[in-house]
Amino acid sequence: HAGIVIVGAGQAGVMSAEVLRTGGYTGAITLLGDEPHGPYHRPPLSKAWLAGEMDAAQLVMRAPEMLARKHIALRTGVSVKAIDRSAQTVMLVDGSALPYTGLVLATGSTPRALPLPGGDAPGVLALRTRDDASAIAGRMAACIEQRHPVVVIGGGFIGLEVAATARKKGLAVTVLEAAPRLLGRVLAPVLSDWYAELHRGHGVQLQLRAQVAAIEADANGVTGVKLGDGSVVPAGLVVVGIGVSANDRLAQAAGLECDRGIVVDACGRTSDPRIVAAGDCTARRLADGSLIRLESVQNATEQGKSAAAALLGQERPFTATPWFWSDQYDKKLQMAGLSMGADGWAVRGDMAAGTFTVYHFKGEKLIAADSVNASKDHLQARKLLDAHVSPTREQAGDLAFDLSGLLK
Ligand code: FAD
Repeated sequence: HAGIVIVGAGQAGVMSAEVLRTGGYTGAITLLGDEPHGPYHRPPLSKAWLAGEMDAAQLVMRAPEMLARKHIALRTGVSVKAIDRSAQTVMLVDGSALPYTGLVLATGSTPRALPLPGGDAPGVLALRTRDDASAIAGRMAACIEQRHPVVVIGGGFIGLEVAATARKKGLAVTVLEAAPRLLGRVLAPVLSDWYAELHRGHGVQLQLRAQVAAIEADANGVTGVKLGDGSVVPAGLVVVGIGVSANDRLAQAAGLECDRGIVVDACGRTSDPRIVAAGDCTARRLADGSLIRLESVQNATEQGKSAAAALLGQERPFTATPWFWSDQYDKKLQMAGLSMGADGWAVRGDMAAGTFTVYHFKGEKLIAADSVNASKDHLQARKLLDAHVSPTREQAGDLAFDLSGLLK
């Protein structure tokens, strides 16, 4: 009596399991995760949890008892090694095979490793899992004690959040970013500059256009980061945040269509009708044929719901406006929409005071909005984007103009 097997007990895996139940599925559901922990929230790992402002219990996403009550069989510490599509089984690391009638791939993503001499020295750490976060927290504590500085390689969201948290703890922090500006692929130039000033204002040594040549280490682990010009930035901890790659190897080996992620449609369907996929491991095909990879809680949640519905034979496409958030110091960034291809911007509010929204336009069309400590603007922007309603650039930038009036 095979049931539905879910590979990956993270955000997307848990959501799909629960939506299978609420959607009326009565067969067996097995949720397999290779981490030793049950499902937990990842976003606090670089924020409140790392800052010591949150305890382990608050990280728990779903207690195993709660899943058991829904007759969802959670198995932790179990790694799936292969999918046999013709036999409809997954192979576990212990050599056993588990049959499925439907399969959800929710395997997440893996931080890119630093392809550098010394990149594997002790104290050079990436941040993806609870165990990664514990290792970073431990090393930070040692750095506080020994007055060693922290270096963050990569000025993306995770790197910048770790930098902000380390500054909160009083550590000396250098951020090394290879590009000419922070978060250059997602933020408007004015906002990249604003974030650079925010971090500098909090005492971060920020180096843009930084070329990292090697990691230097002694018997205790990392001692510094050597740059292209031969200078060395001392470090007792190096956090590497240079992006992630989708965990699509199982799917690739099973012959499913993959293109830097498991290719899915808006309903989470793969090229095999019995297999769906959701979350960071996917690349979603848009109506114009292009592929989009999103790495966010919303994407994992919504794709998880779509994928579960698809296995139940229901169409529940994920087409809502993408959103994302990031907390750095006392600033909450909330992003709505996708800003790629923007050619014009308007700023509403007061950047100097730290409460504002940057609206991204492509021609006359509003395509995205990034709000800093302006949750009302963010929620309104999501409504405007969902409704395909665009203010003019002048209206967006004019605090006296009521944007919600456009939605009536
Ligand atoms: P995951 O949550 O990664 O779950 C996948 C699980 O599958 C993992 O436990 C993995 O170990 C397991 N797995 C993989 N392969 C196998 C296998 N073969 N067998 C068994 N198990 C397997 N997003 C936001 O929207 N806002 C934020 O502020 C934010 N902050 C973040 C901060 C940090 C430090 C990190 C790491 C991420 C953050 N994200 C944030 C991103 C967000 O957490 C992810 O997009 C989301 O967790 C993706 O969910 P998922 O279910 O696709 O993958």
